[in-house]
Amino acid sequence: MIQKIPYTCRFCGVSHIAEYDDECPGLHVEKWMKIICCNKCADFKTERKELTDGIAAACRVIQIHNYKGSGLPPNVESELRLKLEKLTKRYASIMCEHLHLTNVWDADFVQQFMDKPDKWGVILKFYVLGLRSLVSEKPMFQPSRQMADP
Ligand SMILES: [Zn+2]
Repeated sequence: MIQKIPYTCRFCGVSHIAEYDDECPGLHVEKWMKIICCNKCADFKTERKELTDGIAAACRVIQIHNYKGSGLPPNVESELRLKLEKLTKRYASIMCEHLHLTNVWDADFVQQFMDKPDKWGVILKFYVLGLRSLVSEKPMFQPSRQMADP
């Protein structure tokens, strides 16, 4: 029989209702409750991973050209700029939405990757830290707020 059980998402702290089949063998509901997250957080994490991988791949191409000492051919450079612009805009958009902030994106975000492609991980980390510092100036998020899963 399908059972409903309330749970708190381990990432956003919002309460949700999970459904499970109590006839399903080997299901340890108590353990499961501690590790599950809501659909919204799961989607966010999946997309953030895809965008991060895309940014890393673009930076790798720049690094290879830099390593060869030839510099980026103009057509490759404009292609990569466009790609990074698209990826960083989306990255900024999902991060800001996740942190309940107004979208913060600047063309400099792309330039940083173009200038220091080997530092892509650090650049992303500092961007997120910058956003988080904006969050702390805002009122605390209320974990008791009920949100329906889509
Ligand atoms: Zn969540």
